[in-house]
Amino acid sequence: MREANQISAGTLYVVATPIGNLEDITLRALRILKEVDLIAAEDTRHTRQLLNHFEIQTPLISYYREKEAERSDELVQKLLSGLTVALVSDAGTPGISDPGAVLVHKARAAGIVIVPLPGPSALTAALSAAGIAEGAFLFLGFAPPKKGQRQKFLSAFVEAPWSLVLYESPHRIQGLLADVLEILGDRRAFWGRELTKLYEDLQTGTISQLLERASVQRNRGEFVLIIEPGLCRQVTGADLEETLLWYQHHTELSLKDVSQRVAKDLGLSRSEVYQKALQVWAATPDPS
Ligand code: SAM
Repeated sequence: MREANQISAGTLYVVATPIGNLEDITLRALRILKEVDLIAAEDTRHTRQLLNHFEIQTPLISYYREKEAERSDELVQKLLSGLTVALVSDAGTPGISDPGAVLVHKARAAGIVIVPLPGPSALTAALSAAGIAEGAFLFLGFAPPKKGQRQKFLSAFVEAPWSLVLYESPHRIQGLLADVLEILGDRRAFWGRELTKLYEDLQTGTISQLLERASVQRNRGEFVLIIEPGLCRQVTGADLEETLLWYQHHTELSLKDVSQRVAKDLGLSRSEVYQKALQVWAATPDPS
């Protein structure tokens, strides 16, 4: 194996770091961070804390978004001279809604070997705990912060047949949920907040339920929001039972309300869905 146990000169290592819980760092990441000549970090003060925790003394150089192009040229020169460099962001995987792509692109163009070190990312952590149907998802990163732009942005995904994954900060989550409700409708959704941290919070519900929750709680911590595709595109015939079950287990809506909503979304008759819901409810009592 090319990089089994030995670090290779002139190589750029792209290293994922914890998104909260320091125990999530990998053994390989620790070794590489110790052995490289230089660590390029989004915020050197932030990464210094991580390094101090693990007693790593490798020199740091700042690599932040505003200086990406300039710093990338400097780093490529260092790599070409034979130095080994690890690239890290403040949290998670570099290049995932974080700086990194410019350096990777320039380094590859200069013939430098790039080695990814997989590890934590809020994206994969949230998806793994969401329990949404297996299959394709669309990662959208951050939606634009301003309402008008955000609504326009969301409109582009109304017909998308995939789950949508968004990052959001605590002070914008309510605005985002309100716009999702208006533009995409009251879909099934999930949020992962404070993932891997003490107050980790995983919620499933409809968008309107999550919005209600967000408006009554103090929204500390960062969010990953996963929105399932619109029902009419996602669910047909046999999936009706699965949809009704989901509403039974994940919402507190009454059987009547669920029937009305599902019938409307699927374009089925209300009485047909109501009859099916009665059967489903009777066969699988709500666990609560
Ligand atoms: N590169 C990172 C990754 O791989 O996940 C993402 C960096 S991006 C600047 C920061 C956003 O990621 C946050 O606003 C939030 O949406 C999400 N995020 C990061 N850490 C998180 C956590 N512990 N819990 C939930 N979301 C988190």
